[in-house]
Amino acid sequence: MSLPDLPFNPSYCLIGGAWRAPQEGQTLALVDPSDGSELTQIARGTSIDIDAAVTAAQTALDGEWGRTTALERGRILTRIGQLVLEHVDLLAELEARDVGKPLTQARADAVALARYMEFYGGAADKVHGETIPYLDGYTVYTLREPHGVTGHIVPWNYPMQIIGRSVGAALTMGNATVLKPAEEACLTALMFAEIARQAGLPDGALNVVPGLGAEAGAALSGHAGVRHISFTGSVKTGALVQQAAGANVIPVTLELGGKSPQLVFEDANLVEALPFLVNAGIQNAGQTCSASSRILVHHSRYDEVVTAMSKRYKALTVGPAMNDLNLGPLISQRQKEIVTGFLKQGEDLQLAATGQIAADAPETGAYVAPHLLLCTDPNHPLAQQEIFGPVQVIIPFKDEADAIKIANGTDFGLVASIWTENGARQMRLAKALKSGQVFINNYGAGGGVELPFGGVGKSGHGREKGFEALYGFSTLKTVAAKHG
Ligand code: NAD
Repeated sequence: MSLPDLPFNPSYCLIGGAWRAPQEGQTLALVDPSDGSELTQIARGTSIDIDAAVTAAQTALDGEWGRTTALERGRILTRIGQLVLEHVDLLAELEARDVGKPLTQARADAVALARYMEFYGGAADKVHGETIPYLDGYTVYTLREPHGVTGHIVPWNYPMQIIGRSVGAALTMGNATVLKPAEEACLTALMFAEIARQAGLPDGALNVVPGLGAEAGAALSGHAGVRHISFTGSVKTGALVQQAAGANVIPVTLELGGKSPQLVFEDANLVEALPFLVNAGIQNAGQTCSASSRILVHHSRYDEVVTAMSKRYKALTVGPAMNDLNLGPLISQRQKEIVTGFLKQGEDLQLAATGQIAADAPETGAYVAPHLLLCTDPNHPLAQQEIFGPVQVIIPFKDEADAIKIANGTDFGLVASIWTENGARQMRLAKALKSGQVFINNYGAGGGVELPFGGVGKSGHGREKGFEALYGFSTLKTVAAKHG
């Protein structure tokens, strides 16, 4: 099936407001993970294109974009949001085909992208500095200013949401951006850039250079003209990006992986918990940084949870993204090999249940059935390492102290959720869990753009979303005026 008509050439980069072929003229194949067919060719941008993009961004800052007021930037972002909403069907189809994400989930991501633009658009003129009553005869105040050129390196699992939260916040604060989308999925990044152009974003405020991580990505993270890097991806690459940015002494926001637990206590309302216990693990085929891959259950409810989750697992169906089933394929055959490798490592664990792959799912697609496994050893590799596939382990615990110890016993700290009706326990756990986010009797709170998001430990540092993102994408200048 061919791609819908696009208002840009997908094998080009957007630099300085113009679509251009990568300077070394090379392209990469973009594959549809639902059947392994080639969707199109994308640019294989290199350091030359990154250089050109950084220069274009700096030119924008020195020109029209650098002179925009917060109010004007807010209006532009709001217009981008409106145009995104007008293109939701196209964006959803591109994401479904490119990422392998079931159409309904892809559509939700497109709507979320619009919401990021609306939120940041509305917030643009509401982020201010402050006055500081200090010495007599002085007026002291702070100014929030953009960093300058910001680099955004994005993975393939939620391109629209991650671009929305990071590029959106950077533009709001008046930075000029260079975006390096993932080589596995970048159609919606390109379409978003075209929409932003059509919405009147000045040339050079957003530049997009697709390409390989080791080429375009490394060139961007080490570029001396970049003043802030926002990276979302794996721990290994995040450490490389931080090192490269360190050489230029610039701040980095790292949104990395997770091994997020849900804790089910003896008094949990299982009817409410059950959909979250399963969905948070299998959404986007488990390829979610905040996927809940560990379900920790008080021993008194263990059998009940295993039975109820198993029943749901058996009803899960995997198939082509455009068929809009519970799960689509993984992003690639490589990712399928990684996940099946983990399943092999977990052969000593008891298999509680699996879902099924639809009979009409092409053999050439990267399909893995969801697996629910029982694990009594919290240090088992499958209970410790991020799998990034539809695999969850259920681990029993004895009491609250045991639950906290297991929950905190990984390198990560992205999301945790607690299912209990006991208010005092909710408060104790909210403090005790090492995690960027703690949800009580829910998982994710609807994922709102208003909620600051980020990790601790190897899940990363810095916060995106909400007003925190706007603080992160700006720098504070203190002005002290002596007047007599
Ligand atoms: P990855 O680190 O391989 O790639 C992410 C991005 O980095 C891609 O654009 C890639 O091209 C680029 N890249 C690769 N090597 C690079 C280098 N040497 N220098 C600069 N850039 C480079 O990650 P992935 O496998 O694509 O994504 C999966 C990971 O992302 C998982 O670990 C997941 O948990 C994490 N993730 C985290 C969040 C979050 O918000 N915390 C969200 C989504 C994904």
